Amino acid sequence: MTVRVAIVGSGPSGFYTADALLRSGADVEIDVIDRLPSPFGLIRAGVAPDHQKTKNVSRAYEKTALNDKVTYYGNVDVGADISIEQLKELYEAVVIAIGSPYDRKLGVPGEDKKGVFGSADFVGWYNGHPDFRDLEPDLNTKAIVVIGNGNVAVDCARVLVKTPDEMSTTDLATHAAEAIHASSLEDVYMVGRRGPIEAKFTNVELREMGELQNCTPIIDAAQIPEDVPEDMEMSDRDRRLKDRNLATLRGFVDAEHGGRERRVHFQFFASPVEVLGGDTVEGIRLEKTEVRDGRAVGTGETYDIPCGIVIPAIGYQGQSLEGVPFDEWNGVIKNDEGRVSDGVYAVGWIRRGPTGVIGTNKHDGDRAAEQINEDCSDSGKAGGDGLRALLDGKGVRYIDYAEWQQIDDAEKSAAPDGAPRQKLTRIPEMLAVLNG
Ligand code: NAP
Repeated sequence: MTVRVAIVGSGPSGFYTADALLRSGADVEIDVIDRLPSPFGLIRAGVAPDHQKTKNVSRAYEKTALNDKVTYYGNVDVGADISIEQLKELYEAVVIAIGSPYDRKLGVPGEDKKGVFGSADFVGWYNGHPDFRDLEPDLNTKAIVVIGNGNVAVDCARVLVKTPDEMSTTDLATHAAEAIHASSLEDVYMVGRRGPIEAKFTNVELREMGELQNCTPIIDAAQIPEDVPEDMEMSDRDRRLKDRNLATLRGFVDAEHGGRERRVHFQFFASPVEVLGGDTVEGIRLEKTEVRDGRAVGTGETYDIPCGIVIPAIGYQGQSLEGVPFDEWNGVIKNDEGRVSDGVYAVGWIRRGPTGVIGTNKHDGDRAAEQINEDCSDSGKAGGDGLRALLDGKGVRYIDYAEWQQIDDAEKSAAPDGAPRQKLTRIPEMLAVLNG
């Protein structure tokens, strides 16, 4: 008695769900569907290109994809090529694992000027995501301001200031490498609306900023608190992590410039109030803040940073899907511990919002598998046969896992010396590998 499961999205939460279903021993047929020909979601298009070790997790996903009970359908746009309603007719269970692809908005005047790129777009651009291939940020500027103090902000800043040599062992997309390395950029400002204690970046990521070939971290010592106040509520582990961040930042205070050409300025206690310029960004106005009861409160005092690009890296939000209830406020699919409606489940960032590390999604996958095993039984639905018939009828060129492996091989064979791959960044280029 087979339960047919469609998983929409092939990122970490999608693959952890497939893996959990397989491990549960249930009799399942799992179809993993992705809008792009390439699988793995944020592992390919979100994790920074110089964090290759983190990307190794895709080997485990590949093992899952190669299981006999799993079939991959790449280049299928759920919402355009097939609806959730249609998937519900074909599968006993539909799992939505589409992540949080959109940037949260700053909500300040000037945010729509040319030269403001949300981190989802900017990260997608340097990672060769086809949607952002033609973003073309004009990096002919001396200064870039990154808003936010999370790990995505650190990723953006670091990728902008690393040298060609430092990036030579990465899969930074070629178009981005050319633009970044030809750039006249000198200063990147990382602006946090609260202080170093409240910053969300982790210590490994922060320390990397002090170990760069051609970039010096700059920080005003007066912005670094002596220690984490005793009366501040947090776990011992968090306290240790915060202490480490403070120590790292203190180490930056007297960082030797040593002729390095680029600088990353850590500026805390500053909240954006306006993006300045005409049609194009010329600067950003920030209001100095104080942290009161954990919140950033404006002091009324402002200052400007002239810059040519602003990258708000202030968190992501999800995308609604027709036929699925959506919580606009939180940018997630409405769900009860993952259950959305009869036979429909949500996992990962689209279920709980854009927080946590890759492994956090494992728990979502385990729970979805349990729920599916509890709720669903064979009702004789058409599953993959029905999906293929529908897609064939519409002329959709879906690709299977073996075809993805051909694209993968083509990227690896084209890699410059020392690099893991040279990414194909347009869908027709990927499909051409299969037709050629
Ligand atoms: P994040 O960790 O939530 O950080 C968002 C940052 O934006 C915070 O500093 C936040 O400040 C700030 N912010 C939000 N709204 C703002 C506003 N209106 N004005 C100014 N600042 C604002 O989000 P993220 O960096 O996008 O990361 C998403 C998740 O992916 C996180 O869990 C992260 O750890 C993970 N990730 C991990 C890695 C890694 O492990 N290497 C790499 C990338 C991403 P407040 O704190 O004041 O709200």
